[in-house]
Formats: sequence, C-alpha cells, structure tokens
Amino acid sequence: MSYTKLIISNKRLASINRKHPWIFSGAILNLNDRQIKNLDSGEVVQLVDQNNKFLAIAHFAKGTIAARVLTFKNEAIDDKFWNNKIKNAYDLRVRLKLVKASETNCYRLIHGEGDGLPGLIIDIYDNTAVIQAHSIGMAKSLDSISKVIQDLKICEIVYSKSKSTLHQGTEDDAFEDGYLINKALVPQTVKEGNLKFEVDWEKGQKTGFFIDQRVNRELLKYYSKGKTVLNTFCYSGGFSLYALNGGATYVHSVDSSQRAIDSCIKNLSLNGFDANKNACITSDTFKYLQNSNEKYDIIVLDPPAYAKNIKAKHRATQAYKRLNIEALKHLNKNGLLFTFSCSQAIHRQLFEDTIRAAAIESGRNIQILHHLSQGPDHPVNAFHPEGAYLKGLVLAVD
Ligand code: SAH
Repeated sequence: MSYTKLIISNKRLASINRKHPWIFSGAILNLNDRQIKNLDSGEVVQLVDQNNKFLAIAHFAKGTIAARVLTFKNEAIDDKFWNNKIKNAYDLRVRLKLVKASETNCYRLIHGEGDGLPGLIIDIYDNTAVIQAHSIGMAKSLDSISKVIQDLKICEIVYSKSKSTLHQGTEDDAFEDGYLINKALVPQTVKEGNLKFEVDWEKGQKTGFFIDQRVNRELLKYYSKGKTVLNTFCYSGGFSLYALNGGATYVHSVDSSQRAIDSCIKNLSLNGFDANKNACITSDTFKYLQNSNEKYDIIVLDPPAYAKNIKAKHRATQAYKRLNIEALKHLNKNGLLFTFSCSQAIHRQLFEDTIRAAAIESGRNIQILHHLSQGPDHPVNAFHPEGAYLKGLVLAVD
C-alpha cells in the first residue's frame, strides 16, 4: 500500500519510538511541500524518518496534532484492519465479562487511543452502537466501522453522533448526526448493575450515559446501607440509583440541567424508588450547597471537566477546591466523600493536592480510602498516559 509520506524529523523521534500515538505538526519536515498542503484532513498517511525508514500509519489532520497513529505495522487501512481492531476490542470486553452480561447491557466498545484507535469512541447500549468520531479521519471511516459492528454481530443499530465532537466551522461540519444502520426510537431502557436507565443518545449528553462510572457506582452502593446521600452533578441519576439499591435511607440528587433532573426522576420511578422521598433538585451545585443547611453521610461530587485545556488549569483547580470545601461543610462526622475530576489537564497528583488544600481550609481531617478511575472498558494505552482522564478519591471525613 502506498500512502503519502510524512517525514518525521530525526530529532523528534523520541515520542514515536515510545509508541505515543500523536505526532505534532512541528515534528513533520515536509509539511509545507505542495503534496502535503494538498492533502485533505482525514487521509491515511505513512510516517517515515529522515532515512525513509517506516515508522507508522496514521490519520492526517490539519492542526496541532497533525497525525494520529493507527498502527505501527506497515499494513493497509482496509476492511481487514478495521475488523481486527474492533474484534480485539470486543474480545477484551468479553474478557471483562461485559458482553451478554446478566446485570449490564451497556459498555464502551472503543475508547480511542486506549484501544489503538485515536479519535474514535463507541458506546454500546444493548442493540445500538453510538459512535463519536473526534477526528475527521475517523468520521471519514464511519461506514467501514459500522459495517464491522454489523458483521461481528455486536449490534444491529448504529448511530453516529459526531457533529459536536468534530471541529465546528471546518470541513468537519459535513458530518450530521444520524443512523448509519437501521433505526431506533429513543429513549431506550438499558440495564446497568441490575438497574434500569432510560438513555437518549440523540439528545442526551455525550453518548447518552456516563458508562465510565460503573465500577465507582458499585463502590458507592457497597457503602450506602442506612446512609443519607447527596449526589451532585447527578445527570440521569447513576450514583443515586446505586446508592438506593445499596439501602441508602434517602438520596438527594442535584443537577443544573432540567433535562438531567427529569431523566433522574424518570429513572427513580422506573426502578420503584419514590421521587418524593428522594428529592431531585434543579440547581447549580455550588449554590445548592451554599443555601442548604442539610448534612449528609455521603456526598458524591462528579463535576463536568472544569479544565478543557492546559490554559484553564489554574482556574479549574480553584473551582475544584471551592467545590470540595463547600461539600466538606455538609458532611456528617465520619462521613464519606466521593470526589472526582474528569479534566484530562488535571493530573492525579494535582487533583489530590487540591483536595488536600480543601481539607486544610475546611478544617476537616481526611483519610484516603480508595483511588478511583474510569472503568476497565475505558482502558488507558500505557504509551498514551493522557488517556487516564477520570480521577477520583473516596475520603473518610472526620
Ligand atoms: N455523575 C453523573 C455524570 C455527571 S456529568 C453520572 O454518573 O451519570 C456532569 C453533570 O453536571 C451534567 O449532568 C451537567 O448537566 C451537570 N452540571 C454542569 N454544571 C453544573 C453545575 N454548575 N451545577 C450542577 N450541575 C452541573
């Protein structure tokens, strides 16, 4: 197979030699050649060093990250390639006991770099695969990808929700959301942890449900018996339902989105829990905490990514700190705090330092009981540590 060659400067080989899948534009020597200037974003390219030695096959894109590696083998990106990659990822989910599981029928099938497919997210909701392409290369491959999902009998319905994850105002805009194979009516009821959840992948946030918290919800369930719980940033009530299933006395759920609160109420009733006893409150979390006098045995803090990029890091850290200080004020003695950050730019160490600072300022003593992360169907490619985006701590608070 002869793909257009991008020449990587010999001085910039360290990263690719360590199998990191991103190539920054500054590392490419022939970027200004006419042939490369005429190359469309999303095309498959071959990466070579200055001695023309093969390095990898990648998706090209105009921008800071100019290439995302698809394979370090010299192979064609054809149906066989997509089949192998998706089959490998599927087999891993089988080993994780997530496929045809009795208690759960949603899981992440492809987690971008973590499954060797940078820019591609696929979540499975029973018989529907919801795809989010984060790169134009993946968006242009949607048909091949959907066909493999169908051929491997993973799902019969495939929906693409890539408009919001591609760059607006560029040629990427051409990709509308819609069904690629068959059609489904939303919302659909799926199962997680033997609980029912309505998921609307067309209008809901991300692909419709936050699958990455499954394992952490189990942990909350384990500690919830006889406890009062506050679940902030609750979205469709994932943590709330697990806590109630674990025997929580009651759960209060807070989210600023009315749509999220409506779906939380719906999910409570779907599972036979009383929405009057388990209040669902539409409010900014910080304001709710400031205006409430109520104290809880357990609080869950799972805010959206405050730091969308490195530049926002300092402000985001301050916001995490203020939020955690406020939550600590509302915990009973011997309480538990489940606190998370899903900002990729905030590393685990910085997150822990921030929580420590919050504890000092609030005058509460804390012990770290658990270090949490995203579930194993969101694997981290060890050569791409940036993929470890979800950090969480369970703290015993005196
Ligand atoms: N814990 C959830 C996922 C949280 S996603 C789960 O397990 O499913 C983040 C949520 O925070 C979204 O539902 C969003 O609507 C909500 N949100 C964003 N900003 C908020 C704010 N300032 N106060 C309360 N909720 C907020």
